[in-house]
Amino acid sequence: MKFNKEQKIIGIRVLNDNVIWIWAWRKSAVVIDPALSKPVIEYLKINNLNLEAILQTHHHSDHIGGTKELIKEWPKVKVIASLKEKDRIPFQNLSVKDGDTLELLDEEIKVIEVIGHTRSHIAFYVNNKVPIIFVGDTLFSAGCGRIFEGTYKQMYNSLKKIKSLPNNTLIYCAHEYTKSNLLWALDLEPENQNIKNKLIEVEKKIALQELTIPFLLEDEMKINLFLRADNLKEFSFLRANKDIWV
Ligand SMILES: [Zn+2]
Repeated sequence: MKFNKEQKIIGIRVLNDNVIWIWAWRKSAVVIDPALSKPVIEYLKINNLNLEAILQTHHHSDHIGGTKELIKEWPKVKVIASLKEKDRIPFQNLSVKDGDTLELLDEEIKVIEVIGHTRSHIAFYVNNKVPIIFVGDTLFSAGCGRIFEGTYKQMYNSLKKIKSLPNNTLIYCAHEYTKSNLLWALDLEPENQNIKNKLIEVEKKIALQELTIPFLLEDEMKINLFLRADNLKEFSFLRANKDIWV
């Protein structure tokens, strides 16, 4: 997708359901959560792009796995990750914390800490005309990340931070889980027409081998039960229910 005249963001699907995002502007690129290096290197070389930075949302191997090989190809690349993850994200050379801003690709990027999936997960937000956010494994379309290290309260508060962004924010997450999340949501709310419509739309995209991501915050507020939870108790019920849903 293009969010100004020259910038574009490309999603590369890898492994079972991961999506690596490449954000390109002129001859430069930033990659977000490279699970693997090979498809990223191929894309950047074919398009004659220099890798300026790697953004890491959290330490899981399906998000940082490609970083080492990318550094070999582009030794000057900035590897940007949470200051709290110096041990678990070993190649970081630019450590950031909540509220920090970065200048990349002629844009200002804000770091927002979104704890829950891991104890120090971060997201990267760009307040452009079309605002965008890379949320890693915090929010998925119709779903949210599993709580591995944080608490229900932390994840609930992290989703609140995302909910507070402008309605037209485009959300880029790191997994293509949309269809199964919608089927779960329909199990809980079988009469919800918004969710039914979204499922039809998503099935069409999948049939065309298109990604169902990014998604718009405004749309997500209608179909994402986690975002719509009114309080922590309701959110916790939903998260626990989803954990055992098959
Ligand atoms: Zn993860």
